[in-house]
Amino acid sequence: MAVHPNIINPQTISDVLKRSAELADVSDTPRLDVEVLLGHILEKDRTFLYTWPEHQLSDSQQQAFDAFFQRRLQGEPVAHITGQREFWSLPFKVTPATLIPRPETELLVELALKLPLSEQSSVLDLGTGTGAIALAIACERSDWHITATDAVEAAVELAEENRQQFGFDHVQILQSDWFSNVEGLFDLIVSNPPYICEGDSHLVEGDVRFEPASALVADEQGLADLQAIIIGARLHLKPGGWLLLEHGFDQGAVVREMLLGAGYSDVVTHADLAGKDRASLGCLVDC
Ligand code: GLN
Repeated sequence: MAVHPNIINPQTISDVLKRSAELADVSDTPRLDVEVLLGHILEKDRTFLYTWPEHQLSDSQQQAFDAFFQRRLQGEPVAHITGQREFWSLPFKVTPATLIPRPETELLVELALKLPLSEQSSVLDLGTGTGAIALAIACERSDWHITATDAVEAAVELAEENRQQFGFDHVQILQSDWFSNVEGLFDLIVSNPPYICEGDSHLVEGDVRFEPASALVADEQGLADLQAIIIGARLHLKPGGWLLLEHGFDQGAVVREMLLGAGYSDVVTHADLAGKDRASLGCLVDC
């Protein structure tokens, strides 16, 4: 039987971390990638990796790491390899059926929690994907009634799996193409819709190559779905209800214009931690 070369030379955590150099052409975050992959295999956090550099991997751990590492060398996202991505400190299950939750999207959760909403508010998250936004809000507001939708069946199933693993009974996941299957009125509608323009060079780089175009790309310079939601939400918000949208870094002005044009007030854009326009919101006073 052929013996894998790595099994002859047992590796330590420190040896494995050094392999991050090989990822330089594939990833902007080679060291972090290796830490996450190795941490997943060892079922340990990053602190453990730094505390025990001389800790030796077992044969099966080495084999598992090599298999993960080969996939990463081919460009596959770390979150697809581990099947998991943390968002709002919650471990979301991730598959290629949806967008991988991004740190900048936590801004929407922060903004939602800061809105002047009462107890028992009803919230709708459109295009929920993994369920990230809806379930992060749910984690902070056990008294709110939260509905999360996605047009893609595999995304609905994934969000439902995440809902169940967190045990959030105040969240309902359903299949709907934007508002097609949504009933009732909401105090807050939130969404991270597709907003990238077809042909954008960003689409052929990094993780996005492995994510579904339906979650990324929208017609009309990336504005078609944002506009559909801005218009549709007027029929699904309570008087005084809020609409909160993620968008591209260069779409703040046009999204504010679209919100004002559709009759929303208190329209404002917020920047993410990188200082880029990332989310806009508005209040619908008169329906
Ligand atoms: N922010 C994501 C990206 O830049 C796009 C997310 C989206 O289209 N909703 O890849």
